Amino acid sequence: MSFIVAIDGPAGTGKGTVTPALAEKFNLMYMDTGATYRCVTLRLLNEKVDFKETEKIKEILKSIKIDFDENNNFFLDGKDVTKEIRSKRVTENVSQVSHLLEVRLAMVDLQRKLSEGKNVILEGRDIGTNVFPNADVKIYLDASVEERVKRRIKQNKEKGIEMTEEEVRENIIFRDTNDKNNEIAPLKQAEDAIYIDSSDLTIKQVINKISKIIKKNKAKHDRMEKGYIMTEETTFKKFRRKCVKGILAGVYHIFYRVEKIGSENINTDEGIIICSKHVNSIDAAGIVLLNKRYIRFIAKHDLYRFKSLGWLGHLFNIIPVKRNTSDLKSIKMCLKALKDKEALGIFPEGTRNGIEKNADVKNGAAFLAYKAKVKIVPVGINGTFKLFSKVVFNYGTPIDVNDYKTDSPDWIDHATEEIMKQILELSKIKK
Ligand code: C5P
Repeated sequence: MSFIVAIDGPAGTGKGTVTPALAEKFNLMYMDTGATYRCVTLRLLNEKVDFKETEKIKEILKSIKIDFDENNNFFLDGKDVTKEIRSKRVTENVSQVSHLLEVRLAMVDLQRKLSEGKNVILEGRDIGTNVFPNADVKIYLDASVEERVKRRIKQNKEKGIEMTEEEVRENIIFRDTNDKNNEIAPLKQAEDAIYIDSSDLTIKQVINKISKIIKKNKAKHDRMEKGYIMTEETTFKKFRRKCVKGILAGVYHIFYRVEKIGSENINTDEGIIICSKHVNSIDAAGIVLLNKRYIRFIAKHDLYRFKSLGWLGHLFNIIPVKRNTSDLKSIKMCLKALKDKEALGIFPEGTRNGIEKNADVKNGAAFLAYKAKVKIVPVGINGTFKLFSKVVFNYGTPIDVNDYKTDSPDWIDHATEEIMKQILELSKIKK
């Protein structure tokens, strides 16, 4: 899974200096997304295309070739245009071009493709909000207009670009307004982005600030990746698991009056899937800890972000899964576990009280049961999980998904609905 850093913010905030330095420091691929819009602008200007000629622009976008090398040199249709895309005429027109829907769609697509499978740091306007809304790190870099004007003038001098102070100021204000009012992907801080005002900071200070954030998040990212690598099942690990299980089970019994019904249904020598109602963050623990059989749960991969939870995850061999994606690694791990005749715990609701929240019930359990030829044990849970209250785990009779198999291609969804019905039925026990 690639590690993605998004650096967004208005023109002249230092993104162009800070981002490549961070790329080098953390060995990330650097992408200046503004330059991709500049390349399109240059091509349209060269071909004297009116920005309203949508059909012509679409044609150009089909054939345009934009590429860059590790030194951030940009190539338009094979020609090095690194300097040209910073020219006054491109700078004055790029905002308008970047607002064209077809240009935006094509560039976002290009940016995603070029980043595929890589650890990458991208600077732009809409990276954290639009291009990579799930980026591992999101920074919104800002600075006062005056400070940005000063920086741009200095930068222009270094690059030999001739613009007066007034022209630079006008252009920055014009682009700010334009970028913030862009209807398709306006420049704004993503909700989960970290805001940094660089007006009174040196480049080094900004780099240090962002470096700390990247370091912390990279460690979390690496822990999540490690979630997919099961630690070796040594005798010592089994022993530790037994001890921890015993202690936590004791704690569970102190805090809840647990009643189990039908738990013998999971005690087979075969692989099985335990499909349970999900009402609370510790209901999975109630199933794993309070049964003799060794049960591995499937949990969202974020669990491994946290050191202590990750430690427990590795000890209990919890299988991580990325939500809303076809997580092939996870599926393979589940199938292997079932082939090895293990017991897997899955919450078909995906999230706590998914049914009550009208979330779509996930058909992964039925799919796995069908593929691995194992049965599903539905589990109802009845209880509020208030401290010292009673919680009932009601294990139903094993279900063979093949009983629901029809010629219809969506029979797995139908089987899932039936399993969920049984889980809900089993949850209706008197307290
Ligand atoms: O970053 P730079 O100033 O080179 O970007 C040029 C222009 O490209 C910006 O003013 C903005 O209009 C557009 N842009 C964009 N989305 C991005 C990056 C740049 O709309 N992700």
